[in-house]
Amino acid sequence: MSQAPNVYDAEPIPAAARAEIDRLLATGDLFRYTAADASPVALLEAEFAEMMGAKFALAVASCSAALFLSLKTIGLPRGAKVLIPAFTFAAVPSAVVHADCTPVLVEVADNYRIDMADFEAKLDDDIGAILISHMRGHTSDMDAIMTLANARGIPVIEDAAHSLGTQWHGEKIGTIGKIGCFSFQSYKMLNAGEGGILITDDEDLIAQAIIMSGAYEHNWKKHPGVCTRFEAWQNKLPLYNTRLGNLSAAVIRPQLGELARRVTDGLANHDYVAEALNVSPWIDVPPALAPETRAPDSIQFNLVGMTDDDVHAFVEAAQAAGVKVQVFGMSTDNARAFWNWHFIGEQPDLPQTRAMLMRACDVRLPARLTRDELDYIHAALTGAAATAMSANRDVA
Ligand SMILES: *Cc1c(COP(=O)(O)O)cnc(C)c1O
Repeated sequence: MSQAPNVYDAEPIPAAARAEIDRLLATGDLFRYTAADASPVALLEAEFAEMMGAKFALAVASCSAALFLSLKTIGLPRGAKVLIPAFTFAAVPSAVVHADCTPVLVEVADNYRIDMADFEAKLDDDIGAILISHMRGHTSDMDAIMTLANARGIPVIEDAAHSLGTQWHGEKIGTIGKIGCFSFQSYKMLNAGEGGILITDDEDLIAQAIIMSGAYEHNWKKHPGVCTRFEAWQNKLPLYNTRLGNLSAAVIRPQLGELARRVTDGLANHDYVAEALNVSPWIDVPPALAPETRAPDSIQFNLVGMTDDDVHAFVEAAQAAGVKVQVFGMSTDNARAFWNWHFIGEQPDLPQTRAMLMRACDVRLPARLTRDELDYIHAALTGAAATAMSANRDVA
């Protein structure tokens, strides 16, 4: 293989989606609440809940909308503090702000997981909720988090946007907290362009989330299996109208059967490239925590023993070989660098997370890549590290 593979292309949507999409186009039946029952969105919710072993699911416009609705359903007062990791995508603190709450950032270690000492120090009785963002699918210590949260009676919401298929002690990520939220945006395991879904076992929370997502009047009757709590909330909640449409559901449903293969292949690809990268003295891929079985579609690694100039030289050398590397803390206006989240107001500095972001690299590694393509990518990366280090050492 002499050319870099394209890591941005998605997999084709299974052909089985076509007949359903044609039917929807022919009938114009695109709104989830037009049909009396069994709309594609309702079927997706039932199938997703069953796959995850959750009682209830609600499909919405994005994972961000799912996070926002989750925060609204737990009844936090205006301005309530929500603990989130400092390493996540800007959409996560944005969902907190959108829900009229205040994010409190927790330090993240150089293995991309929440620093539990800082978490415990910041978990006081002022904290109204904990939003665990499993950034890039890396799972923090959920045993310790749930023990601390339960001891104080603080609800935990999981941002599992990038963790579909990940397990913790064999339990599915997204089912450990009170609510789990997932994304169907194109760079996630299931691709509908846009979309999201939340799951919970709590009847009161799902009833509120369904109404607030836009089940106006008695459209909640089209959510089978969710029973006693709708009447109690009727006309008491705002309608944020952040529903999913039938076309998106028709694109997602045939992909559910592909998930197991994508998870297996994604993990095998990741571990194969990780092993090859770890041979380089300049590259470190942190291991998963012991209870964690990952479902990656990208790889993160730290550059070690490099100055800022070396890091820039590495990124350039990799780019010249056709492999795009993003160093989270170094690219201009990166949405995953907490210091760019000016909209959350003043925050204390987070030196540990800052140092990690200045050396942590991100490379997409979709499950569909072949061994040859993976070999090209890891050789380009280790070669770029060697080039950067020999070039910059000569000058020095
Ligand atoms: C993609 C992503 C989101 C946002 O998902 P949307 O569906 O685009 O709103 C939130 N958190 C994490 C960790 C993500 O990877």
